[in-house]
Amino acid sequence: MTRPLWAPWRLDYIEHASEQVGCVFCAEGAGELGDDASLVVGRGEHAFALLNKFPYAAGHLMVAPKRHVAALAELTHDEAAEIHGLTVRSLAALTAAFGPEAFNVGWNLGEVAGGSIAAHLHEHIVPRWAGDTNFMPVLADIKVIPEHLLETRNRLRAAWT
Ligand SMILES: [Zn+2]
Repeated sequence: MTRPLWAPWRLDYIEHASEQVGCVFCAEGAGELGDDASLVVGRGEHAFALLNKFPYAAGHLMVAPKRHVAALAELTHDEAAEIHGLTVRSLAALTAAFGPEAFNVGWNLGEVAGGSIAAHLHEHIVPRWAGDTNFMPVLADIKVIPEHLLETRNRLRAAWT
């Protein structure tokens, strides 16, 4: 992405990022949060797709391997193939549930590139709408975000194939 979308709840993330304990991808990959609290929308054998708790846009998904690895070169063939498959299914679920006009898909490798949790690889899938910077103020109140996230998660789980 060449320009950041307005995402005010990321301020809360920046303020609290240092308080996080452990790796959220490892915890989600292992199913430690339970289905009700988990933001995972689809699982494979080696990888999984989950909503970004601090999204750049509504429906912002991430696909990550279960293993805690930082470099693309560390992925096995099976992991890489499954991440690709989960990416395709994520695009299909987002299209079915929300009908975005376009997507940004990609990796931030390393903290300087913007990877917030660079130690555990994850691919971003960001749905885009024309004029979506104007779409964001609907979600401006940070207190509504958790509820909105769970509703989004349920719609994506229902659309997952
Ligand atoms: Zn991890």
